[in-house]
Amino acid sequence: MELITVKEKDYSGKRVFVRVDFNVPLDKNQNITDDTRIKASLETINYLLNQNAVVILASHLGRPKGKPDPSMSLQPVAKRLSELVGRQVKFAPECITSEVRKMVDTSKPGEIILLENLRFHQEEEENDENFSKSLAEIADCYVNDAFGYSHRAHVSIVGITSFLTDKAAGFLIVKEVNALSKLLENPERPFLLIIGGAKVSDKIGMLRNLLDKVDTIITGGVMAYTFIRANNWETGNSKVEYDSIPLAKEIYKEIRKRHLEFHTPLDHVVADKIAEDAHYFTTERGTVPIGWTGVDIGPQAIWEYTDCINRAKTIFWNGPMGVFEIEAFAKGTIEIAKAVAASGAYTVIGGGDSIAAVNKAGVADKISHICTGGGASLEFLEGKGLPGIDVLKK
Ligand code: AMP
Repeated sequence: MELITVKEKDYSGKRVFVRVDFNVPLDKNQNITDDTRIKASLETINYLLNQNAVVILASHLGRPKGKPDPSMSLQPVAKRLSELVGRQVKFAPECITSEVRKMVDTSKPGEIILLENLRFHQEEEENDENFSKSLAEIADCYVNDAFGYSHRAHVSIVGITSFLTDKAAGFLIVKEVNALSKLLENPERPFLLIIGGAKVSDKIGMLRNLLDKVDTIITGGVMAYTFIRANNWETGNSKVEYDSIPLAKEIYKEIRKRHLEFHTPLDHVVADKIAEDAHYFTTERGTVPIGWTGVDIGPQAIWEYTDCINRAKTIFWNGPMGVFEIEAFAKGTIEIAKAVAASGAYTVIGGGDSIAAVNKAGVADKISHICTGGGASLEFLEGKGLPGIDVLKK
């Protein structure tokens, strides 16, 4: 997929509107608890600053429901960004007023302005034409570096590009699209898909689309229990997404037709409840006893899954193998994280919890690519065009 990129343009003296993903977690005192998302766009921001552009940054934070909400202000981000880029970041308390326009017009090349939360205006998520026009008026060019929101047809992702036709993808988007395209176009075989977590309906479409690409699929979490249930095997009190069972049955048929290798766990850690103080034990079989809840894959499953991982040349992983937030149920996910990191395969990880797992296992630097947008990467791999990427295609 060929995108228009910042690299092929000259931004000297231009006012550049950059859509970034600064939707960072804040504690109750509005301290940023994880600045990964800010750091992810530094390459694009520094590149534009070095080109002597006026850099106008825009993002959303949280879900303020179309109204100003001081607890979701981007002001703390301006402070952190300023430390990271080593220069002042001007904070605009709005995103479209005449005051903002004046702030931009009086800015010199090499200066940065961060606009207040775009979602303080409900028009942002409605892809409203007038709001698109007003936002576009403050800049000469548009850059998108917010991969994690490029599946949303919002003003700052899509609408604005009707008015700012000089548009390009930032470095983060290019990196994400290249990494994911490599999975869809000619992946080195065997290609292994590891799919877990709880949001089955968000992921099962991606699984279906990848049936033509992958050789092996291993499952964990609620995803595994939904497939086990679809086979009419006992799942006890385990969480199952019943609405996805018809699709899971269809996928089983497709898997058999294609002779793909498909695994649900050979054994499970089961608990009497999902809690720190739960009673738990490991089963010796692939079903869950009545009255118990599956919370992690067992040792035989870890062994079998590690073998699949060691044989793979390409791996995509989304979703933990169990309730890994609870120490006693984290082993399966952590062992899978370690095995993926040690595999020597081309490895791509998406989804906040799988990323947290490789961080917890201390192996994040051994992963070929960590996606910054879980939902966007799933839709990309589902074969759906992403509206924010489609408008940046050559
Ligand atoms: P997702 O966002 O779809 O990747 O789901 C992540 C969540 O799935 C985590 O919060 C896990 O605790 C949860 N999860 C994983 N396995 C299970 C399970 N067997 N039962 C209930 N929740 C699970």
